[in-house]
Amino acid sequence: MDEPTLYKLSADGRSSVALPECDVDESKIPSRLMRDAIGLPELSEPQVVRHYLRLSQLNYGVDTGFYPLGSCTMKYNPKASEIWARLPGFSQVHPLQDPESVQGALELMFDLQEQLQEIAGFARVALQPAAGAQGELTALLMIRAYNRWRGEGQRDTILVPDSAHGTNPASVTMGGYTVVEVPSNKTGDVDLEAVKAACNDRLAGIMLTNPNTLGLFEERIGELVELVHGCGGLVYGDGANLNALTGVTRPGDLGIDLMHFNLHKTFATPHGGGGPGSGPVGAAPALAPFLPGPVVERSQVALGEHPVYVLTSPEQSIGRMVAFHGNFGMFVRAWAYLRLLGAEGLREAAMHAVLNANYLRVQLAEDYNMPFDRTCMHEFVCEGAPKGTSIRALDVSKRLMDYGFHPPTNYFPLTVKEALMIEPTETEDKETLDAFVRAMRNIAAEARADPHALRDAPHRTPVGRLDEVKAARDLIVSEET
Ligand SMILES: *Cc1c(COP(=O)(O)O)cnc(C)c1O
Repeated sequence: MDEPTLYKLSADGRSSVALPECDVDESKIPSRLMRDAIGLPELSEPQVVRHYLRLSQLNYGVDTGFYPLGSCTMKYNPKASEIWARLPGFSQVHPLQDPESVQGALELMFDLQEQLQEIAGFARVALQPAAGAQGELTALLMIRAYNRWRGEGQRDTILVPDSAHGTNPASVTMGGYTVVEVPSNKTGDVDLEAVKAACNDRLAGIMLTNPNTLGLFEERIGELVELVHGCGGLVYGDGANLNALTGVTRPGDLGIDLMHFNLHKTFATPHGGGGPGSGPVGAAPALAPFLPGPVVERSQVALGEHPVYVLTSPEQSIGRMVAFHGNFGMFVRAWAYLRLLGAEGLREAAMHAVLNANYLRVQLAEDYNMPFDRTCMHEFVCEGAPKGTSIRALDVSKRLMDYGFHPPTNYFPLTVKEALMIEPTETEDKETLDAFVRAMRNIAAEARADPHALRDAPHRTPVGRLDEVKAARDLIVSEET
């Protein structure tokens, strides 16, 4: 791929704007602040538009096609939410404005807090954290504050299942705790014996993803919660997979003490490059006073018909996690999504997500090994090397791009060899799922017939196989001049 940069296209004197006459007396500006040229490319409007539009078309997104990236939940983003997020009353407010002048925005935040509380079964929710990972850190800091307050400050270890997302052990370490890994058993659940062995008065808690990152519901969660609570530990729920449960069961009712939500996974706010993320945290009654602040409350005072909303800090708050109130634009989008679907719609979304994942799981089982012979939740993990072939999951993923699909998540979780983690989400229709199945079956046939061709895939994308480590480490974010 050899894309011309805007600088290479530039020609002296070309312009796409007509600037107004300068109304500043230049003689009054110190000459050291004046420059003749600032080195920006000079281009016509069509050149600029074509350049950026072409670049945007090189990208694959959930608005361009099927995006089965497991664990990340690349959900369709309703366009109506974008309209509402752009309403001036939401998009033009400033976090330092007097709360009286932003009552509508505060009411929306309050209502979102209440809805999340209800959906997940918690006493209170704080919207502040800016991502799931920051929600995890928030919860760990809350666990620390809670344990100190109740005189159990010696608790310094956190259990993390071996199938956990990488952010879990990272957050534990950032939060000043020691990670103790617990293995999964043959059925893909957390090994209860290992949890039992780690239960003592140094245990601060466990981080549990349910459904877990194998896409399986932790069937013995009741016993697990009892074990950890029994030795004074807390159960943290990694809520990234909540989209499999909404309207069906509630983490709070399962005994989870604290959990982060990923609004960008469960509640259809834009994700990845389109972010930013949002990772509110919910807490059971004992932990609720430690939530970060400020949170929005409805005061006893009313202005005419309208209740007055205020920003307050929970009584024993750990303080702020971000400078202001969180990613407000995401609150608007998540709120709009919740209102669009309603309680019944949310339940249906979870059921369809599970149905779609199981449909794909069964359709693909002929060509790909399924390490766990169980009904899955909203996603599943298969062995990415087609049965009886020597090609790798990475080859399958790269080849899928030639068929016009975004690859699933590769090599995660680490507990399944050559893992491909597939999450279709609820919005995909049967035709799309069938087209994906056909592509995966074709690739398996190709792998048997001509494995070498697959090792060079993709063949039809603007760039082939990239050095992904270099791409991540030496990211070039500016145009070369
Ligand atoms: C995405 C994810 C996270 C981290 O959430 P971010 O919002 O990306 O920081 C944590 N755990 C699991 C299981 C996830 O899928």
